[in-house]
Amino acid sequence: MDADWAKRYGRPVRLASQPSHPAARLKQAGADAYRFLDRLPPTARGPRVEALRQIIVQNFLIDTRGCLRPRADKDGQPRGALRIVSPYDIEARRAIRGDTRWSGYLVHVTETCDSDDSVHLITDVATTGPTRDSQALPGIHKRLHARRLLPAEHLVDGGYTSAALLDRSARDHQIQLFGPVKASGSWQEKQQTGFTREAFSIDFDRRRVTCPNGETSERWFEPPAMAPYTVVRFAARQCDPCPDRSLCAKGTSARTVNFLPRHLHELQARNRTDQHNPQWQRRCAARSGVEGTICEFVNGHRARRGRYHGVAKTHVQHVLTAIAINLERLATHAPPATEHPRSLTAFQLYLDARGLTWESWWRQGK
Ligand code: SF4
Repeated sequence: MDADWAKRYGRPVRLASQPSHPAARLKQAGADAYRFLDRLPPTARGPRVEALRQIIVQNFLIDTRGCLRPRADKDGQPRGALRIVSPYDIEARRAIRGDTRWSGYLVHVTETCDSDDSVHLITDVATTGPTRDSQALPGIHKRLHARRLLPAEHLVDGGYTSAALLDRSARDHQIQLFGPVKASGSWQEKQQTGFTREAFSIDFDRRRVTCPNGETSERWFEPPAMAPYTVVRFAARQCDPCPDRSLCAKGTSARTVNFLPRHLHELQARNRTDQHNPQWQRRCAARSGVEGTICEFVNGHRARRGRYHGVAKTHVQHVLTAIAINLERLATHAPPATEHPRSLTAFQLYLDARGLTWESWWRQGK
């Protein structure tokens, strides 16, 4: 500790909204942190020191002259999933959904939607880092299974669906996942022109694909880097003279087509066909009800403000919010018109099974 440090850190550091000399101060702070880490004895290391080390590595680098300087864009930045965005909550990450940007977590809400007049209750709340929505789905199903709350049909939006998840939900939990499977990201699909993958006919038994012009693929292979996709390639001698080449392949290379294994490919194709069916669309429209619940989270219970640090504690906030919403809904729901009789005891069931009569005058319907 020297006199300069005492001057800089002897009082709490406050950054105004427009700090003076920001670049010089950033450089100074990085150099101080680096020096601090360099001189710490190994016994003093712990999670906070490790967080500081990661922040320094992610935001500074030592250049070829041996000087520490802040990372510029051209130096490369860590992936969003790894990048620490706050020293106070090192698990929080930067998230972007459409036009909305924030630092923190995602909350995934599952609720019942049996009929319009039944009370819709939240059955699961998941708090995750801002990863893809589809990564949260297996965990949601696992928890619903443990609580015996698995639905027969699960309505989800496009972020939670993929051919693999449709298959996995049916296989592991016998759940029919309802949701639009995204279109492929090919330029033909985006520009709504040219030959998309659907224009090709796939023969899985003979391991070959026929293009719209009747040419048969030259190569069928499964590159490990693209697993579980199969790739087929046409030859340049087939595509170069083709009159439809501009609708099919870009640049000088011949056309390649990627697709999933047979059962997933068929499931994906079936789902995409079903999406045009009005009955399927009506069924899926019931999912939009959960948007009201999200709105209740955000506007009624300020879910956009994390009251705690860390994903575990933030999850507690989300669970408590869900309990509050459920209680509000149950309290405002009209009581059932008729009382239901109590279910039979194990002994009464035994008597019934043996054909023995028992006094049941107080029971409705007995
Ligand atoms: S460019 Fe090749 S794959 Fe495409 S239609 Fe022509 S021959 Fe078939």
